Formats: sequence, C-alpha cells, structure tokens
Amino acid sequence: MATPNDTLHGEFIAAKSMAVRNLVQRLSHGGMAERLRTLPDGGVLAEPLVFLHTWHWLQEHVPEAYRREVLSFSKNPAFAPMVEVLIATDSPASFVAGLVAAGYADGVVTAHGGDPQAATRALLDAWAAIGGYGMRRPLALREVAADERHMYDEQLGAADRRRLALIDALTESDPARPQRFPKLGVIPVMRCPQGCRHCLFLYRPQVARAREPAELLGTVSELTDSLLYTGGDLTDHLDDFSQAIAETPRVTTFAILLNGVFATDRAATEVFFQAVDEALDERRRRGLEEAGVVLQISFDEHHQEIYPRADGSLQERIPVAFIANIVEAAVRHPRVGLALLHKQNVFNFSRDLFQRGVFARLARELGQRGHRIEVLEARPAPRPRANPCTSSAPAPVITDAHFILAGHPDTPIRLTSTTVDGYGQAALLDASEFLNDRAHLEAFLAGEAAGEGFDGDLMFWYDGRVTCFSAVHYALGDLYEEGIETILARHRKDPLLSALRRFDRRLLDLYAEVRDDLQPRLAGTTSVHHLFHQITFDADVRLHMTERLIDGR
Ligand code: SF4
Repeated sequence: MATPNDTLHGEFIAAKSMAVRNLVQRLSHGGMAERLRTLPDGGVLAEPLVFLHTWHWLQEHVPEAYRREVLSFSKNPAFAPMVEVLIATDSPASFVAGLVAAGYADGVVTAHGGDPQAATRALLDAWAAIGGYGMRRPLALREVAADERHMYDEQLGAADRRRLALIDALTESDPARPQRFPKLGVIPVMRCPQGCRHCLFLYRPQVARAREPAELLGTVSELTDSLLYTGGDLTDHLDDFSQAIAETPRVTTFAILLNGVFATDRAATEVFFQAVDEALDERRRRGLEEAGVVLQISFDEHHQEIYPRADGSLQERIPVAFIANIVEAAVRHPRVGLALLHKQNVFNFSRDLFQRGVFARLARELGQRGHRIEVLEARPAPRPRANPCTSSAPAPVITDAHFILAGHPDTPIRLTSTTVDGYGQAALLDASEFLNDRAHLEAFLAGEAAGEGFDGDLMFWYDGRVTCFSAVHYALGDLYEEGIETILARHRKDPLLSALRRFDRRLLDLYAEVRDDLQPRLAGTTSVHHLFHQITFDADVRLHMTERLIDGR
C-alpha cells in the first residue's frame, strides 16, 4: 500500500513532468522565437535555447535526485541523449557543449563552418544577449518586495494627501444622496507566511487594531448588505468574523477568504464551522435579519503546490487533506456555503480540470475517506482564453462548477476559477503555468472590446486605512482620522476613480505624460484590469492623473 510520502512523491513527479512539458511546448510554439526576434540568426538558435532554458528551469525547480524521474515522461528515443545531457551537466556552458556534441544544435554548427566550439560560443552569446534565464529568483523577489514596500510607504503620504485635498475641494451636485455598496471588505491583517509563488503580495505592512471591530461593523452595516473578510492568513481573526455575523445588523451576507491552514484536522475544522453556526444562532436570538455565510477557500496548483524543502524532502504548501477536512465539514454544516477559489491553467480547457492536478488530488483524498465527488455542472467563461503552451486560437475554458459529495445532494460546493494577473511575484511565474486575459486586453487596446471596470468598492483596514477592492494601493483616506462622510464624499467625487471604473483609455495618455515606460508595461500586462492597476501604482502618477482630469472638466 502507498504511504503518504509515496503519494506525495508520485504527485510531485507528475506535476513537474507536466510543468516541464508545458514549458517546452510554450517555448517551442513561439516563446523562444519571440525572445530571439532581434537576433539575425535567431531561427537556428531557437531550438537549442529552448533546451538551455529548460536546463535552467530544472536547476531551479527540481532537485537533482528527482530530475531523471521528472524527465521520464519523454518516451521519444530521439530525446534520450538530451535527457542524459540535462541530468549530467552542472553549468550552462557544459550543458550547451553537451547539447552540441549530442547533435541537438547541428544547424548552429553548420552556420559556424562545422566548428562545434564556435557553435557553443554562439549559443552562449545569444543567450546572454537576450538576458539569459533572467534575474536569480531571490534577487527578483527582493525587487518585488522593495516596490511593494515603496508603495505602502507612499500610501496616504504627501502626493496622496494633495490628491485627496483636490478631491475634497470639488463640489457635489447632490451631496446628500444615500450611498450603499454592493459589497464592502474588511482587512483585519495583511499577513501570510505561506509564500505561494503566484501571491499578489510579498511585502505586507503591519496593520494595527486601532479600534474595537464593533465600531467598524456599525459603520459598514449602514453601507452594505454584503461583507468580505480578507487580507491573507486570517486564522487568528476567525473570532472577529463570528462576531461580525452575530452582531452586524443590516449585513445579510458574510464571506471570508481563507487559505485553509486552520483546518489542520477534523476537530480544528469543526471548531470553526461550529463557531459560525453559533454566531448565526446568536444573530437570530438578537432578532437580526437572517444572514448567509460563504467560506471562500483558495484551492489551486499554487496553494497546494508540492515543493522540495532545502534537504530535498517534499512538502505540500497547504495540504489537500486540509481542504478535504473543510469539504467534509461543509456538508455537515449546510448553513455555511463553501466556494473553492481556483486559478486557471491549461486543465481549464477541458474536463481535465476535474480529472488531473489539484482537483484529482482532492477527489483521491476524499475517496480514501469513503466519499465520491459528483460534478453537477461546469460552465464556461464569457470570454475564451489563449493557451500559453500552443499557438492555437483562444478557446473556451471552464470557470464555474458545482460538485457534491455523493449522499449529500443538498450541499453543493462551488468551484470558481479565475485568471492569474502579473501582480507582485506572480510576474515571475512561467507563462505556461497559468492562463491570463491578454487576448481581451489586446482587443481592448485596439478599441474592439470594453473592459469591465475597476472594482471601486471599499476595503476597511483595522488600522483605519480605506482602499479599494481592485487595488490596495488606491487609498481614500483614514476612517478614524477623517470620518466616514469624508471618505464617502471622496468616493463619489474622485474623478480618477470614476475614470478607472469605466476603464477610460485617456488614462494611458495621462500616464505617458509623466512616465516613459508605457510600451514595456503594455508588453508585460496580463489583463485590462492589470493594466489600470499598474499605471496607478505610483502615488505621483495618481496625483498627476487627478490634476489633469480636474483641469479637463
Ligand atoms: S496566495 Fe494566499 S495563501 Fe498564498 S501566500 Fe498569498 S495570501 Fe498566503
């Protein structure tokens, strides 16, 4: 019988085999040719450099002890010598020399008069000329963290304050109109130790608990029916969530986004679900309106990634068993709706979504506990997506599904799958690891499609900051220093927020007035939303855009 370690080992090998296959496919279907387009003899260099990139990737992602198994997916005898070179070499130079000697760069050798050493040099020179494998990951992460830290240092600093003063000075035609939001967010903390490779956040600021949460709940209950708790790992704030359910009068939907680390075993999972049930009972005792609760749990190839520790042993980032604990508890507590939030990858193009990868791992785990998953429905996204590993036209992807555990037909569990945008360290992922909305961005830039608009609903931080759902950098003030009326007036009057909410293309021109990197930014952008997020990341740019929008009125 397979031990848990055997299972982890097998799943790690399967995941990395698929990752390397997707990587090679992506690079071979135009990815490397695109990088080489400025080099005169790029065509002949492309294939050997695909393998050099793959060699670097293996060094970074697969410890030596696992490489042969990971590469064993290739049954083509023509690649057997290549596998040996990938495994046996320990530097880019020795790999390229081995590649040339094994006959995988004959075109380059011919182009260099049959001289293998000249071909080796040409390949290494070309690799250096296109930037090689890129910055080493620890350095790249440091840069991402420094950018994020700078953003928080500037938040509500001098430029933001000048911007907010400009907004405050604007007059309103109907200042007294009542304002309710489709939803509001609460950020008790901005912290998470998990280190997922696709996480939006790397540097996270301290969030002080400036006032008792009851005060904030009184404010938000006047403004919305629907509240979301978010911010990272909220395991230490589950009591606050229960308190909100029990005490907040006018809110009727309470959602919390968790990564599942609280569900270490069945008993710990039960504690959370029981606390929610008790909070709903308390709410009823207080005579408050009935409310629904939605538990949103991150669940994808990134959160449940199996990765090697420093000593080479394997570990699941957030174990699938924790998610299975949550699914089992959800069917015992039907008043708590469960939604698994998934990130799209190539599996989403077919039912592979349910038969491979992390979903298959969950089905296996639940199967070992005597449960069988039945997928009830699977709906496609309104827009097709490009497959990063092929050059084929964009195709439909499954984004929304419901499943049940057999025997529990009345407690369907939702799986909702969204794209990954290149925020923070997600920009360091290989493009073959996720789907993005680049095809829609290109149509938007060509004027052929509309964007959906920035989500400007408000997020209330425990330390008083008020930001927007679509961007934690977009601050509208400090609730405790300035009061809710000031914040709401800014939300109504802010001309930049209004332009963002309709994805006004003029903002691209305003950005280009003060920054000279619009074109490179466009090249690296993964969706319309990501584009507008990026161009408003700097406080100085937000100020400039606001001034120009006010001038142009
Ligand atoms: S993606 Fe979620 S679980 Fe992973 S590091 Fe970020 S906040 Fe934590």
